[in-house]
Amino acid sequence: LSVEGAAVTSLEWSADEMVRNGEATLRRLVEYLEHIRDRSVVTDTTPLAMDELLGGEPPERGEDFGYILNDTVCRVLPHLGHWNHPRFHGYFSISGSYPGALAELFCAGINVNTMLWQTAPAAVALEGLVLRWIAGMVGYPPDAEGVIVPGASLATFYALAVAREHVVPGCRRAGFAAAAGRRFRIYTSDQAHSSVERAAGALGVGTDNVVRVASDEGYRMSADRLASAIERDTRSGCTPLAVVATVGTTATGAVDPMTEIAAVCRDRELWLHVDAAYGGLWSLLPEIGDQVGAFTAADSLVVNPHKCLFAAIGSSCLYCRESGSLSGAFRLVPEYLHTSTGELELDYMDRTLQLGRGFKALPLWWIVRSYGLGRIREHFRTMIRLARWLEARLDEHPAFMRPARSIYPLVTLRFVPSSDRVPATQPRNWAVAGTHACEQNVVFREKVNASGKAFVTQAHLRDGVAIRVSLGNIRTSRDDVRELWRTFERVARDLDRDHERGSHDGAR
Ligand SMILES: *Cc1c(COP(=O)(O)O)cnc(C)c1O
Repeated sequence: LSVEGAAVTSLEWSADEMVRNGEATLRRLVEYLEHIRDRSVVTDTTPLAMDELLGGEPPERGEDFGYILNDTVCRVLPHLGHWNHPRFHGYFSISGSYPGALAELFCAGINVNTMLWQTAPAAVALEGLVLRWIAGMVGYPPDAEGVIVPGASLATFYALAVAREHVVPGCRRAGFAAAAGRRFRIYTSDQAHSSVERAAGALGVGTDNVVRVASDEGYRMSADRLASAIERDTRSGCTPLAVVATVGTTATGAVDPMTEIAAVCRDRELWLHVDAAYGGLWSLLPEIGDQVGAFTAADSLVVNPHKCLFAAIGSSCLYCRESGSLSGAFRLVPEYLHTSTGELELDYMDRTLQLGRGFKALPLWWIVRSYGLGRIREHFRTMIRLARWLEARLDEHPAFMRPARSIYPLVTLRFVPSSDRVPATQPRNWAVAGTHACEQNVVFREKVNASGKAFVTQAHLRDGVAIRVSLGNIRTSRDDVRELWRTFERVARDLDRDHERGSHDGAR
């Protein structure tokens, strides 16, 4: 066999092609983002329609890139929910930023694998640096053991795996046989994220053993009820495994009382994981940090740069206060990965279940350096001010009420149907409203979203449906929030008119 038959040229594009195609791609991306307000925030389509539009076999001969790019702009972009739209207020608003996007492109091009020090020293060093920066921004010890993971759900899974190893030493090797038939419990509030149950299921603790402690009137976990739940379980022979506190709950942006919860955990030597996926980074503002309290009592902590720090999806920071906790739970080195690294030459593969992993530190490094902490704080303050402005409009208007409040730019509201409205001189009372009012809020949300002007999601609170508005996207401006408010007013007016028509028709 000889090499004569092998192709002479690589299938790779030429440098000229790359520059030309790269410029074209950037131009299309920038065009999309600069004109994103012209688009309906979300669209409506069906899987069948998407199959028809996008189906097909892989081509035998490569296609012209200009054609592929155009095809993407024409056939893919129109059928997306525009998460980067400044009026995408559903779930939690996120931002793919220019420096973040360029760094992602750069990383994909160099394609470094940040698993071992030996083959990625600067990437390893930058990950450590960025993790220290972010720890500093939220007030967590900078020498904590950290790692960038693809999401907060995974981070909570990892943190609870560390807690499991902490409570059942050797569980990692012997499995739950090491636990001698004990039943473990994980405590969190009734407002906590579903990732706690998902982790409990995957870790063999069992979703039934997640105890959802009732929250107080402000949707915060009650430390007293937490303590009683732990006492009750301990008496009946269960073993507490961990407590998960939330800083910035999904439904209403509530903050669990960390000091009190930490005291409950400290007395019982219980692992405290703080899920600050949404709320954590807002503590960069001292006025928010003071209200939230210090994260230092958390044995483990997760914050999500891909939520409010302008990073693309896939960037979550997990920390364990005690060095060696993560590697103690996950390190396992097969022969082919043995390197002769020293004490300080860190291998990130030791800290999670991932082996191959990208270079997610670079986008964070570019983002923080490009904007600077000063302007990031300024943006955060603008978002909070715009949220308070919207709240003031809602409070003035007879058709709205606010069932919960948050220190974050997360506005929770309800449309109060005219049949349930009391005169403006009386306090608005949702308790009188029933199923009809909840249904009307679902209709309200659907109408707002169908307008294409904004996208909002809903939450189920203990007294019914509510609508949530999350502000945070890098492009969201005063005018966007005014437009959102106009949309709310218009939809409320339309629903009032429909209601009046309905009662006239009924009278006739
Ligand atoms: C967003 C969020 C999560 C899930 O984060 P992912 O990164 O999407 O996995 C978990 N908990 C809280 C409190 C969140 O806000």
